[in-house]
Amino acid sequence: MARHIEPVCRLCRREGDKLFLKGSRCLSSKCAMNKRGTVPGQHGPNLKGKRTKPSDYSIQLREKQKVRRIYGVLETQFRRYFREATRSRGVTGAELLVLLERRLDNVIYRAGFSASRAGARQLVTHAHFNVNGHPMNIPSYLVKPGDKISVRESSRKLEYWTRLTADKESPTTPQWLMADRNGLVTEVRVLPKRDEIEVLVKEQLVVEYYSR
Ligand code: SF4
Repeated sequence: MARHIEPVCRLCRREGDKLFLKGSRCLSSKCAMNKRGTVPGQHGPNLKGKRTKPSDYSIQLREKQKVRRIYGVLETQFRRYFREATRSRGVTGAELLVLLERRLDNVIYRAGFSASRAGARQLVTHAHFNVNGHPMNIPSYLVKPGDKISVRESSRKLEYWTRLTADKESPTTPQWLMADRNGLVTEVRVLPKRDEIEVLVKEQLVVEYYSR
């Protein structure tokens, strides 16, 4: 199972935008975008101000990379999501985001069981969850309405969960999920709509990128 292993703050610096990949650190003064928001690499700092107007292609490419990096998906799999989105009846860009939101690692993150999608992915691969009563360790599993995701009995005694339930600052859960952080259970009520998906991206640019 391939995954990105470079320091993730470089990804934000590359995109010139906060992608919120590191949980609470992203909201602190330690965020690399606050400290130095230049493009990474030897020539990164020199690029600022020297660039000519970016081409349409470059704008589309950067937006595609941004979406892909926010959800922690590699290119081949991302293309697969895009193909699936084009086959659906809705607006392709919105359908693409809905597919990404339905990933089990994203649902764990949205339910507040992890501060980042990368952390959620690790919890899933370490087999801490059941989906509808059955163990599930595949981060790309796509949830459906009615799916019930719960922390496995054997995992509940871990200190991580004790700390999580003791933390009174619970994040806001989106309407399409019904999360019970104390019970360590969440249920998918419905599939999300585009306006319920809190990611600041222009998905139409991703569609344009793949439609060239
Ligand atoms: Fe991006 Fe978070 Fe790193 Fe800031 S701390 S650069 S938002 S991953």
